[in-house]
Amino acid sequence: MSNRKILNFINGEYTEGTAGKFFDVINPADGSISAVVTEASTADVDRAVASARIALDGEWGQMSLTARLDLLDGIADGIMAHKQDFIDAEISDTGKPYGQVAHMEIPRGADQFRVFSKIAADVAESEIIETPLPDGGVAHNREFRKPKGVIAAICPWNLPLIMATWKAAPALAWGNSMVLKPSEETPSTAALLGMVMNEVGLPKGVFNVVHGFGENSAGGFLVAHPGVDAINFTGETRTGEAIMKSSAVGVRDVSLELGGKNPSIVFADCNFETAIEGIAKSCFFNCGQICLGTERIYVEQSIFDKFVAALKQAAEAMTIGPAVGLTHQKKILSYYRLAEQEGATVVTGGGIPIVDEEFVGGAWVQPTIWTGLPESARLVNEEVFGPCCHIQPFVREEEAIIMANDSSYGLAACVWSGDEGKAHRIAESLNVGVCWVNGWMVRDLRTAFGGVGMSGIGREGGIHSMEFHTELKNICTIMPSV
Ligand code: NAD
Repeated sequence: MSNRKILNFINGEYTEGTAGKFFDVINPADGSISAVVTEASTADVDRAVASARIALDGEWGQMSLTARLDLLDGIADGIMAHKQDFIDAEISDTGKPYGQVAHMEIPRGADQFRVFSKIAADVAESEIIETPLPDGGVAHNREFRKPKGVIAAICPWNLPLIMATWKAAPALAWGNSMVLKPSEETPSTAALLGMVMNEVGLPKGVFNVVHGFGENSAGGFLVAHPGVDAINFTGETRTGEAIMKSSAVGVRDVSLELGGKNPSIVFADCNFETAIEGIAKSCFFNCGQICLGTERIYVEQSIFDKFVAALKQAAEAMTIGPAVGLTHQKKILSYYRLAEQEGATVVTGGGIPIVDEEFVGGAWVQPTIWTGLPESARLVNEEVFGPCCHIQPFVREEEAIIMANDSSYGLAACVWSGDEGKAHRIAESLNVGVCWVNGWMVRDLRTAFGGVGMSGIGREGGIHSMEFHTELKNICTIMPSV
């Protein structure tokens, strides 16, 4: 039994849920209990939303842009000042490799506050549009942005701190207050954010965290709450559909970043080594639990065998962490069984790796590659969200585009080719929100991020985050004649 207790953070204070319910967080590396977490009741969610509203109407709502953005920079520094606590918390919730968390996830999670602080500082706050009037006079339209209000942010478990700060930084940069619900599987780093907010002096109630599950728990209570003005959600498509229904009550805005079944198209004229290295990462990094990761690969017939052999070698050489938990491990393994039932050829993997005695209770899965399935197979169409991919040959460019686009998802894609013109032609014809050419996962946070179809609605990043987090208002003044 762990003695680490994770509490809600409401109105600047860590508090136990009023219902007295707790749940466990399991360390997926070895199956041990890493923390116990309080579950927020409706009364707790009510209090969090009410605190956020009061904060908006108080000091936070009156604060100058400069003072607000100074606080955001302070939050970034505050996270880094507690870097080791964040690293330990993230690793015990997710079982991720130390280097990945220490060198990428925590620094990037912190940096998002700096990035959105800079974007908010750089974007013009208002403009005047002059309208000529029939009597020869003019009217001045002053258009400016106001915070949208109280934002509910609901996060998944795959990149816990990065997801939490990706939601929190723009919400706060544009003057909103918020209630964040992290995934029940990975609540620890979001919980630590409360401490940083207090240390930098963020006014009480601006940032709140409630813990629990989805339906009939903290997530469901939060998205249904009439005091919430907009909902920013990242997670599974099915959950997104339920949240969109909730957001219809009260006509509240919603941003949905959902699942994907992302294709990668590889031409014979690509830089082979670069492509293998990039594709191996896009399939297996973070145990394949990256929404932008690749699960379908289309390879030009002339290099198909060479490609399959090289990716097999790369997969077998990779060290990856466990899946996020035993339930998700079970889901991944059920797809591994399904692939075989559907007649796939297992190129590598397909099961649980051999691990040291102390890790046998963990949620480990092997990096897995298949070939030989028809495009109609469930495995080629459904998101697994694990370290796996199916490789299909193609002969003509048009064939590759048709297969890549034959998906109800549309989040991300990659094209690998030495012919820039061809690569761009194909990238333009793929129905996705982001397409990389000769690379993967290069992310400039000023650019639009989001998907089409079942991958979501809305865009995050840069001024797109501003658009979601603000209401544009016009004050039209009829100017006195001179
Ligand atoms: P999930 O949908 O199961 O859960 C996400 C969050 O929603 C959790 O905090 C959960 O408690 C909450 N939730 C569940 N049901 C709810 C309800 N009815 N009302 C309110 N909240 C509810 O997703 P997950 O398993 O945590 O994450 C994996 C999924 O997230 C994958 O499908 C992946 O593709 C997707 N994802 C997408 C992106 C993106 O940017 N498009 C990024 C990361 C992950």
